[in-house]
Amino acid sequence: MDNGQVTRLIFLGPPGAGKGTQAKILANLCEIPHISTGDILREAQAQGTPLGQKAQSYMERGELVPDALILDLMRERLSQSDAQNGWILDGFPRNVSQAAFLDELLQDMKQEYGCVVNLEVPDEVLVTRMLGRGRQDDNEETIRRRLEVYRQQTAPLIDFYRDRDSLASVDGNRPLQQVTDALKQLVETVEDG
Ligand code: ADP
Repeated sequence: MDNGQVTRLIFLGPPGAGKGTQAKILANLCEIPHISTGDILREAQAQGTPLGQKAQSYMERGELVPDALILDLMRERLSQSDAQNGWILDGFPRNVSQAAFLDELLQDMKQEYGCVVNLEVPDEVLVTRMLGRGRQDDNEETIRRRLEVYRQQTAPLIDFYRDRDSLASVDGNRPLQQVTDALKQLVETVEDG
């Protein structure tokens, strides 16, 4: 992980799969930014910015925030200086049009992602985890809707990236440390080409 290669990873997977937790750990290890659209939106809400205000009702209902709010935000975030030496994306892209946008953006910036990690966890485990987490949008109704939205809009990205041979699946239904170890190994394999 410290062999001079640039690490650029996209984390896919349903809500509650542990993307945020694992992305944070791995980003620290690789010394690259963990870019979570969910965190950015929650921070914007906490600060009461226009973005936060616009996003709030969607997030409370478990719906995706409109692309119009997300795409500019990501263009700006990925152009910042700390993102030039790698990143881990968590929560973006979340539908096919966001994935197409990311393709164009990376092409413009002359960058490429290294691989897409699909963190796999069974539905019943996801619900239990989210209910235990106690975030504002972690009530039963919103969780159900987020899982539906995931299946309809985000899960198609699994095939989108598998078709390009960019996809790696990791079993996320294991103790945290074991998942981290599997991800570390994956990053090393990708970087060794
Ligand atoms: P989780 O994956 O556990 O549902 P996130 O923190 O990734 O949590 O996302 C929380 C909410 O933020 C989503 O339900 C959605 O409303 C909004 N959101 C995050 N990322 C995106 C995105 N790329 N596009 C649209 N909405 C998003």
